[in-house]
Amino acid sequence: MTDINFLKSLRIPTEDNPLRVLVSSCLTGILCGYDGTANGEYPSVIKLLNYDTIKLIKFCPEEFSFGSPREMCDIHGGTGIDVLEGKAKVLSDSGVDWTEGMIKASEKMLEIAKKEDIDLAVMMDVSAACGSQVIYNGNRFAENKVYQIGAGVSAAQLMRAGFKVISQRDYGSLEILYSKIDEKHKINPDLKDHHEIDWYKNYFNI
Ligand code: SF4
Repeated sequence: MTDINFLKSLRIPTEDNPLRVLVSSCLTGILCGYDGTANGEYPSVIKLLNYDTIKLIKFCPEEFSFGSPREMCDIHGGTGIDVLEGKAKVLSDSGVDWTEGMIKASEKMLEIAKKEDIDLAVMMDVSAACGSQVIYNGNRFAENKVYQIGAGVSAAQLMRAGFKVISQRDYGSLEILYSKIDEKHKINPDLKDHHEIDWYKNYFNI
């Protein structure tokens, strides 16, 4: 869940001192998805590419460890934090254990976050690596696919180190970010974060 107060407290950036945001590469149109695509189009993040007051640092953890294209993968037996603590595994579609590679990729992402001294990360939700609000619980291709609240391995690694992560579907939070990087942007109060929408509330019975 996004820390709105944190977002509101972000400094007003300038072209000389932009906000530094680590972003899932695929959200910016880079063809690093499991099938060699960008996993669709995400105007909520593409829009960030238009500003000089934000520096986007792009990284794809799964491509780092497994290349593109590759198999799809999901977390089995817990969330990303459980993977980092040795309590859950990441398996590819065909059942290959990708846990070690996913942890290495998350460590690389954390290294980049520290080196770049990022202010925030914007990551692709529902991914076993980049998800920050919702992820699959087990194989997403199972007949009865199941979602769970939680973060993927790389997002969990960043959060555990104290970095804030929002997703491309946290439209309310992104409104605050836009208002920081563009003084003319008027916040739309009707836009909601992923955890505030009806699907999330109904699915997780909140
Ligand atoms: S690992 Fe992250 S950056 Fe890479 S394709 Fe999946 S969601 Fe996008």
